[in-house]
Amino acid sequence: MSYIAWIISIGNELLIGKTVNTNAAWLARKLTLLGYDVRRIITVPDNEEDEVEVFRDAIKRGVRVVISTGGLGPTFDDKTSEYLAKALNRKYVINDEALKLVIETFKLKGLELTEPRLKQAKMPEGAKPLPNPVGTAPGIWVEEDNTIIIALPGVPAEMMGIFENYVEPKLREIGPKLHFIERSITVKGVPEADLAPIIEKGMKMSNRVYIKSHPKGHEIRSPLVEIHVYVSSEDVRKAEDEINKVLDFLIFAVKEKGGEVLST
Ligand code: ATP
Ligand code: MG
Repeated sequence: MSYIAWIISIGNELLIGKTVNTNAAWLARKLTLLGYDVRRIITVPDNEEDEVEVFRDAIKRGVRVVISTGGLGPTFDDKTSEYLAKALNRKYVINDEALKLVIETFKLKGLELTEPRLKQAKMPEGAKPLPNPVGTAPGIWVEEDNTIIIALPGVPAEMMGIFENYVEPKLREIGPKLHFIERSITVKGVPEADLAPIIEKGMKMSNRVYIKSHPKGHEIRSPLVEIHVYVSSEDVRKAEDEINKVLDFLIFAVKEKGGEVLST
């Protein structure tokens, strides 16, 4: 079983540099912690050609989980749901369950049910709406072949609300039964370039461990680098053993280079 995941960020504002793509980073972290293997984060503009192409590509490649954000709102340029229907060659129809959710939310907020708002109840045929605890547009859960596509709104609080309440529990249930463990050490006095061969060696010690350096200080004058080590494993004990083995090596090798380990 493959646990490959893609994140698709939809929005012109991301591509013109107006909005920083914090959604993708947040989702990548969440998916990784759930044991999924995030292989692509793709940003596309709000247009039919690009959106349809990227959804079809994910299905064709058999990606297990695809999460998109953006374009679920009531405005004219929010067409993710319609383009998703097109990518799936399905009808774009009013979803009864979604309609109930949308009507309920509007009643609750005392808003009128206008045409643009009604649009948020339209989804690809066979999709399942995901309640939005924060805003009005429901998320979308739809499956095609072996691929699950989850479309979430772009507004971060709405995206997170739907994900944590309705997506995360399901992805955990169907995902790999993995444990994720992470540690960081902060190293003073060794430039990042000199740490590179140490990190490479550390990575080779275990194929479950991932090591990444994050420079914090001045590269030459006062190098300060955080080394982040993480591991996923079916077995907690095994994960702990692996991460400790790699950490011991890193600390030893850094000290050998004349570096100081400030914190672990
Ligand atoms: P809305 O109902 O607000 O229209 P939507 O699902 O249509 O929601 P977008 O219109 O694509 O979402 O984005 C709404 C806002 O959410 C953007 O203006 C931006 O501030 C924020 N946003 C969108 N995408 C991202 C992202 N990838 N990372 C962080 N913020 C984002
Ligand atoms: Mg919008």
